[in-house]
Amino acid sequence: MKKVVIIGGGFAGAYAAQHLERDFDVTLIDLKDYFEFTPGILRTIVEPEHIKNIQVLHTHYLKRARFIRAEVKTVTPKYVLFDGKRVPYDYLLICSGSRYHTPFKEKRIVLSTRAEHLRQYYDQLCKAKDILIIGGGVVGVELAAEIATHCKKEKGRGKTITIAHAHDRFLTRNNQKAIDFAERFLTKHGVKIMYNERVMSHNGKTFITESGKKIKADLAFLCTGIQSNSGFMKKHFAKKLNEREQIEVNAFLQVEGSKNIFVCGDVNNSHEEKTAQSAEKQAMIAVENLYRLEQHSAHSTHPAQQSLVAYYPTKKPMVISLGKWCGIFVWGRFTWCGVLPGILKNLVEWKTMIQYR
Ligand SMILES: Cc1cc2nc3c(=O)[nH]c(=O)nc-3n(C[C@H](O)[C@H](O)[C@H](O)COP(=O)(O)OP(=O)(O)OC[C@H]3O[C@@H](n4cnc5c(N)ncnc54)[C@H](O)[C@@H]3O)c2cc1C
Repeated sequence: MKKVVIIGGGFAGAYAAQHLERDFDVTLIDLKDYFEFTPGILRTIVEPEHIKNIQVLHTHYLKRARFIRAEVKTVTPKYVLFDGKRVPYDYLLICSGSRYHTPFKEKRIVLSTRAEHLRQYYDQLCKAKDILIIGGGVVGVELAAEIATHCKKEKGRGKTITIAHAHDRFLTRNNQKAIDFAERFLTKHGVKIMYNERVMSHNGKTFITESGKKIKADLAFLCTGIQSNSGFMKKHFAKKLNEREQIEVNAFLQVEGSKNIFVCGDVNNSHEEKTAQSAEKQAMIAVENLYRLEQHSAHSTHPAQQSLVAYYPTKKPMVISLGKWCGIFVWGRFTWCGVLPGILKNLVEWKTMIQYR
């Protein structure tokens, strides 16, 4: 059996491991011992017990594949290296995704510790009077809505929730109808939105913006940009990294010049919104292409590349949740706001997790 090594067990890596393990000798290497439905993590900030609905151990859903909890430090054209060990591969799938601020994503962690950390954040949230959310992208807006709707329910009305956003409109890359709906929703729930205020530093509980404004907060959440997890490529594949440290891929999601290395999800340079569904869709294409390469090497004299399927980045539908029971479905110019999109987000979570149960 050919050896397939997969780096990262997020949306792309978990999908690939599950779909390749029947026909290949698969090794999944991940810093965490579990798959986590990242979009559901914001709910755990106000409902820490929700964590059990959105996590599953890799060893639970993998029936044949080997799982190793480790951080890959170096990728060479023949093997991957971690903790002084080498794992050779015939095919490599890089699905190492991106880093984000704690508590939303954490490194080198086991399932039980993760739940404990989230519980600690919840305790801090309960005690905090003034909460600051830095960044008004999708994560910042969803988090503000989770906290605001939860506090209303818990009658924690003494709290202030502020979003400090560096630009003059939030939820950029979304249409105006979606932006207006989110703004009305948050304002109605008592969230203060400060536009054109980039937080630059803090002194204890005082956060200072570029314009010199001071914002007092007992608890602050940083909800700004993602960073690619691609450091292990620097030694042997530095030229394949772009200025954002994303790994450059061709239309078939291969590293150019290395037909047996595929890269899926947040870590590659595909020009589109970095989302869970894009990561999973790319993993589908990479898995299909890996099978096609194998079939060709066994039965055909034609160059295998000609039979591969291309991945086309597209604008995909997106659901922005506003608390548990409200949301916005956006697909290009089409917008649908209210209870049903909110329920849809819960359904997506349920449907994703059921694949791994
Ligand atoms: C708070 C938040 C909310 C979000 N909400 C949504 C949403 O509502 N809808 C949506 O579609 N998308 C959402 N996203 C984006 C979505 O989560 C990502 O696009 C998606 O997780 C990318 O999947 P991935 O498989 O590429 O990488 P990831 O999910 O980042 O997984 C990468 C995996 O690789 C592992 N890893 C990294 N480096 C190494 C290494 N060196 N060695 C071994 N393992 C390694 C990590 O431990 C991790 O398990 C959200 C993201 C965040 C942070």
